[in-house]
Amino acid sequence: MPAANDALVVLEKVNKHFGDLHVLRDIDLRVDRGEVIVVIGPSGSGKSTLCRAINRLETIDSGTITVDGRPLPQEGKALAHLRADVGMVFQAFNLFAHKTILDNVTLGPIKVKGTPKAQARAEAMALLERVGVANQADKFPAQLSGGQQQRVAIARSLAMSPKVMLFDEPTSALDPEMINEVLDVMTDLAHEGMTMIVVTHEMGFARRAANRVVFMADGEIQEEADPETFFTAPTSARAKDFLSKIL
Ligand code: ADP
Ligand code: MG
Repeated sequence: MPAANDALVVLEKVNKHFGDLHVLRDIDLRVDRGEVIVVIGPSGSGKSTLCRAINRLETIDSGTITVDGRPLPQEGKALAHLRADVGMVFQAFNLFAHKTILDNVTLGPIKVKGTPKAQARAEAMALLERVGVANQADKFPAQLSGGQQQRVAIARSLAMSPKVMLFDEPTSALDPEMINEVLDVMTDLAHEGMTMIVVTHEMGFARRAANRVVFMADGEIQEEADPETFFTAPTSARAKDFLSKIL
């Protein structure tokens, strides 16, 4: 068991409603530094809301969320810095359409972190190299494939030097032949020690990269286990039912 101060993201008794819908129910979750968590569960179970709450894209009704020991800020500069600490990659490729690939990656460091332009460009090029799209730096997002765009989105998040990366179904919108190029980048990140919370149904990725699988249904964490145990011997009825449908 790691020491308590290894905890990077901690959720305690987190609740969230949308009107009458109780989408997060007493969520307790602790993610340690360097840990990779895969969140899995049926559509509508609250996985995206969970990610969005950690990045403060959604407010919560009760409970606490801390990142690196600090409660989530409400607004202003502190919130911008939280967003830098908590990188997020969505299902849709959220690149700025009217900016080049390079400018997409340098914008955050220049605007939020005050990184000098030349340094931001050099660091961005290194990151684009790392995700295998350095040769696309001067193009615009629409000129790239979905897999390339998603790798740029990962580079853009990494440019902010996040403490934790959230991925919300990052390969769901991709053509099948592009899924692995994105999962490979994510697997490398995991093996390099990045703390990651990944919503995905890609079990190969979970088996390769995850320390723990968290199964959600109806806004609750129903079960947590290491990937091998979860996929071969789930204990909850909901998890068994879900796995029988996707396996
Ligand atoms: P998942 O990502 O597991 O599919 P979500 O977190 O997106 O689940 O959604 C959980 C539930 O909350 C769903 O029933 C969804 O329709 C509802 N929901 C999500 N966002 C909103 C919103 N902004 N307003 C109202 N209901 C929402
Ligand atoms: Mg979702």
